[in-house]
Amino acid sequence: MSGAVILVTNDDGVHAAGLAALARALEPLGEVYVVAPDREQSAVGHALTLHRPLRVETVGERRYAVNGTPSDCVNLAVLGFLPERPVLVASGINHGANLGEDVTYSGTVSAAMEGTLLGVTSMAVSQSDPDGSGFEAAGEVAAAVAARLLVEGLPPRTLLNVNVPREAPRGVKLARLGHRVYSEKALRETDPRGRPYYWIGAGPPVWEEDGESDIAAVHDGYAAVTPLHLDLTHHGALRAMSAWEGGLTALLKKRKR
Ligand code: MN
Repeated sequence: MSGAVILVTNDDGVHAAGLAALARALEPLGEVYVVAPDREQSAVGHALTLHRPLRVETVGERRYAVNGTPSDCVNLAVLGFLPERPVLVASGINHGANLGEDVTYSGTVSAAMEGTLLGVTSMAVSQSDPDGSGFEAAGEVAAAVAARLLVEGLPPRTLLNVNVPREAPRGVKLARLGHRVYSEKALRETDPRGRPYYWIGAGPPVWEEDGESDIAAVHDGYAAVTPLHLDLTHHGALRAMSAWEGGLTALLKKRKR
């Protein structure tokens, strides 16, 4: 189908099965263009490539690989590469969930953040099974959410984070971000030359009990939909800390004398 342009990207790379599933699922909603990293870029967060040129390789009809990050792909696509401005940026389907504070590391979610920063309605979609099965069900969820999103839009500076369980979901729950409990330590080992090395993120994540969270929803077999706001300001703390202003200003003035 032709019509409005939809940009699909991911952080698992242009050849990932989840990306193909998302592109296929959104095909009925518009003209899908895939602009995605040429290799896996998971957990690169919101990184941009500013100190070397980006190259685009055509890998199929309306399918392009970029030697950069997910945010590079969205930036490049929206700000010039696509024939017109997309009506939707969809990132995923990530091989593995992006729940709770995962969103602060995730290249998948960052690509949707980049779309939002550029003023395009954006969503990230992840699926619990890192081995990459069950993308059909996740694709159906993504298409349903995208169709509604294209009609309703989102508040300013807001994106959607969607997580789909391994099995076909029992339904959809609107859920808040969960909270990870850091219980593990960085592993310290010794390499064959006798030097220490460290390994982080080795254990399974432990989550705080919260029945309203995205983690609980996915655990219970539902697809979780979480609106995320790019304004990270803690407005309560901003008000509560107002007295810091005078105190810190006075301190700085005293130092200057
Ligand atoms: Mn990934």
